[in-house]
Amino acid sequence: MAATLSKFFSQICTIFIIFFTLLFVEILILTRSFTRTVRKIRSRLITRTQYLNFIEEKNPTISYKKSMLMKKSPSESKDCAVCLSDFEDGEMVRKLNCKHTFHRDCLDKWLQEYLATCPLCRTKVLPDEIVAKYQHQQNLQNLDYYGGDDEMAFLISLLHGSGVHRLF
Ligand SMILES: [Zn+2]
Ligand SMILES: [Zn+2]
Repeated sequence: MAATLSKFFSQICTIFIIFFTLLFVEILILTRSFTRTVRKIRSRLITRTQYLNFIEEKNPTISYKKSMLMKKSPSESKDCAVCLSDFEDGEMVRKLNCKHTFHRDCLDKWLQEYLATCPLCRTKVLPDEIVAKYQHQQNLQNLDYYGGDDEMAFLISLLHGSGVHRLF
Protein backbone atom coordinates (compact mmCIF):
# COMPACT_ATOMS: atom_id res chain seq x y z
CA MET A 1 0.00 0.00 0.00
CA ALA A 2 2.74 2.46 1.06
CA ALA A 3 4.80 1.56 -1.98
CA THR A 4 1.87 2.21 -4.34
CA LEU A 5 1.20 5.51 -2.62
CA SER A 6 4.79 6.72 -2.93
CA LYS A 7 4.87 5.62 -6.57
CA PHE A 8 1.69 7.58 -7.13
CA PHE A 9 3.20 10.69 -5.50
CA SER A 10 6.40 10.43 -7.48
CA GLN A 11 4.33 10.26 -10.66
CA ILE A 12 2.39 13.36 -9.57
CA CYS A 13 5.73 15.03 -8.87
CA THR A 14 7.03 14.21 -12.35
CA ILE A 15 3.86 15.52 -13.94
CA PHE A 16 4.18 18.75 -11.97
CA ILE A 17 7.83 19.19 -12.94
CA ILE A 18 7.01 18.68 -16.62
CA PHE A 19 4.04 21.01 -16.36
CA PHE A 20 6.02 23.82 -14.74
CA THR A 21 8.93 23.42 -17.12
CA LEU A 22 6.55 23.75 -20.06
CA LEU A 23 4.90 26.73 -18.41
CA PHE A 24 8.27 28.35 -17.81
CA VAL A 25 9.32 27.83 -21.45
CA GLU A 26 5.96 29.21 -22.59
CA ILE A 27 6.35 32.33 -20.45
CA LEU A 28 9.89 32.79 -21.72
CA ILE A 29 8.74 32.64 -25.34
CA LEU A 30 5.85 35.02 -24.66
CA THR A 31 8.10 37.51 -22.86
CA ARG A 32 10.54 37.47 -25.74
CA SER A 33 7.98 38.08 -28.44
CA PHE A 34 6.36 40.70 -26.23
CA THR A 35 9.66 42.57 -25.90
CA ARG A 36 10.19 42.32 -29.64
CA THR A 37 6.70 43.65 -30.35
CA VAL A 38 7.15 46.52 -27.90
CA ARG A 39 10.40 47.43 -29.62
CA LYS A 40 8.67 47.33 -33.00
CA ILE A 41 5.82 49.53 -31.77
CA ARG A 42 8.31 51.93 -30.19
CA SER A 43 9.91 52.38 -33.61
CA ARG A 44 6.50 53.25 -35.01
CA LEU A 45 5.98 56.09 -32.53
CA ILE A 46 7.80 59.32 -31.98
CA THR A 47 8.03 61.25 -28.75
CA ARG A 48 7.29 64.94 -28.26
CA THR A 49 11.01 65.71 -28.22
CA GLN A 50 11.61 63.88 -31.50
CA TYR A 51 8.62 65.65 -33.00
CA LEU A 52 9.99 69.04 -31.97
CA ASN A 53 13.35 68.06 -33.43
CA PHE A 54 11.67 67.34 -36.76
CA ILE A 55 10.05 70.78 -36.68
CA GLU A 56 13.40 72.37 -35.92
CA GLU A 57 15.05 70.39 -38.70
CA LYS A 58 12.49 71.45 -41.30
CA ASN A 59 12.04 75.03 -40.13
CA PRO A 60 15.09 76.14 -38.17
CA THR A 61 14.65 78.79 -35.49
CA ILE A 62 15.89 82.20 -36.55
CA SER A 63 16.39 85.38 -34.61
CA TYR A 64 13.92 87.95 -35.88
CA LYS A 65 15.32 91.11 -37.45
CA LYS A 66 12.89 93.74 -38.64
CA SER A 67 15.26 95.09 -41.27
CA MET A 68 16.08 91.67 -42.73
CA LEU A 69 12.49 90.53 -43.23
CA MET A 70 11.30 93.92 -44.45
CA LYS A 71 13.94 94.05 -47.16
CA LYS A 72 13.00 90.65 -48.59
CA SER A 73 9.25 91.14 -48.74
CA PRO A 74 7.81 94.40 -47.49
CA SER A 75 4.29 92.94 -47.48
CA GLU A 76 5.22 90.30 -44.94
CA SER A 77 3.19 90.40 -41.76
CA LYS A 78 4.91 91.94 -38.78
CA ASP A 79 2.98 90.09 -36.12
CA CYS A 80 2.53 86.52 -35.02
CA ALA A 81 -0.90 85.21 -36.05
CA VAL A 82 -1.03 82.87 -33.06
CA CYS A 83 -0.55 85.35 -30.22
CA LEU A 84 -1.30 88.49 -32.30
CA SER A 85 1.65 90.43 -30.91
CA ASP A 86 4.25 92.23 -33.03
CA PHE A 87 7.64 90.65 -33.62
CA GLU A 88 10.51 92.32 -31.81
CA ASP A 89 14.15 92.21 -32.86
CA GLY A 90 15.93 89.20 -31.43
CA GLU A 91 12.81 87.13 -30.81
CA MET A 92 13.02 83.47 -31.79
CA VAL A 93 10.81 82.83 -34.80
CA ARG A 94 10.23 80.17 -37.42
CA LYS A 95 9.56 80.94 -41.04
CA LEU A 96 7.57 78.22 -42.78
CA ASN A 97 7.86 77.24 -46.44
CA CYS A 98 4.64 79.14 -47.11
CA LYS A 99 6.58 82.29 -46.03
CA HIS A 100 4.46 82.79 -42.93
CA THR A 101 6.41 83.65 -39.80
CA PHE A 102 5.49 82.86 -36.20
CA HIS A 103 7.11 82.96 -32.79
CA ARG A 104 8.91 79.66 -32.29
CA ASP A 105 7.07 78.91 -29.04
CA CYS A 106 3.67 79.89 -30.44
CA LEU A 107 4.12 77.75 -33.55
CA ASP A 108 5.53 74.73 -31.72
CA LYS A 109 2.60 74.78 -29.32
CA TRP A 110 0.19 75.00 -32.25
CA LEU A 111 1.85 72.15 -34.12
CA GLN A 112 1.77 69.94 -31.05
CA GLU A 113 -1.78 70.59 -29.98
CA TYR A 114 -3.64 71.21 -33.20
CA LEU A 115 -2.81 70.16 -36.72
CA ALA A 116 0.66 70.08 -38.21
CA THR A 117 -0.27 72.81 -40.66
CA CYS A 118 0.41 76.54 -40.93
CA PRO A 119 -2.08 78.36 -38.64
CA LEU A 120 -2.72 80.89 -41.42
CA CYS A 121 -2.84 79.07 -44.75
CA ARG A 122 -2.99 75.39 -43.66
CA THR A 123 0.07 74.39 -45.66
CA LYS A 124 1.51 71.13 -44.33
CA VAL A 125 4.51 71.73 -42.09
CA LEU A 126 5.62 68.13 -41.56
CA PRO A 127 5.33 64.92 -43.61
CA ASP A 128 2.13 62.94 -42.95
CA GLU A 129 4.11 59.94 -41.75
CA ILE A 130 5.71 61.87 -38.90
CA VAL A 131 2.46 63.52 -37.90
CA ALA A 132 0.70 60.15 -37.87
CA LYS A 133 3.36 58.62 -35.66
CA TYR A 134 3.22 61.54 -33.26
CA GLN A 135 -0.57 61.54 -33.12
CA HIS A 136 -0.63 57.81 -32.51
CA GLN A 137 1.70 58.32 -29.56
CA GLN A 138 -0.43 61.21 -28.25
CA ASN A 139 -3.64 59.22 -28.59
CA LEU A 140 -2.16 56.42 -26.55
CA GLN A 141 -1.01 58.83 -23.88
CA ASN A 142 -4.38 60.55 -23.81
CA LEU A 143 -6.27 57.40 -22.90
CA ASP A 144 -7.58 58.64 -19.56
CA TYR A 145 -7.45 55.30 -17.87
CA TYR A 146 -3.76 54.91 -18.48
CA GLY A 147 -2.89 58.46 -17.56
CA GLY A 148 0.06 58.89 -19.89
CA ASP A 149 1.95 55.86 -18.64
CA ASP A 150 4.29 54.94 -21.48
CA GLU A 151 4.52 51.25 -20.74
CA MET A 152 0.76 50.91 -20.36
CA ALA A 153 0.36 52.75 -23.64
CA PHE A 154 2.52 50.14 -25.29
CA LEU A 155 0.46 47.37 -23.76
CA ILE A 156 -2.67 48.94 -25.18
CA SER A 157 -1.11 49.43 -28.57
CA LEU A 158 -0.25 45.74 -28.45
CA LEU A 159 -3.94 45.01 -28.39
CA HIS A 160 -4.58 47.38 -31.27
CA GLY A 161 -1.41 46.71 -33.20
CA SER A 162 -0.70 43.96 -35.63
CA GLY A 163 1.74 42.37 -33.21
CA VAL A 164 -1.07 40.74 -31.34
CA HIS A 165 -1.90 38.36 -34.19
CA ARG A 166 1.61 37.08 -34.28
CA LEU A 167 1.75 36.74 -30.51
CA PHE A 168 -1.18 34.38 -30.14
ZN1 LIG B 1 3.36 84.53 -31.08
ZN1 LIG C 1 1.25 79.70 -44.19
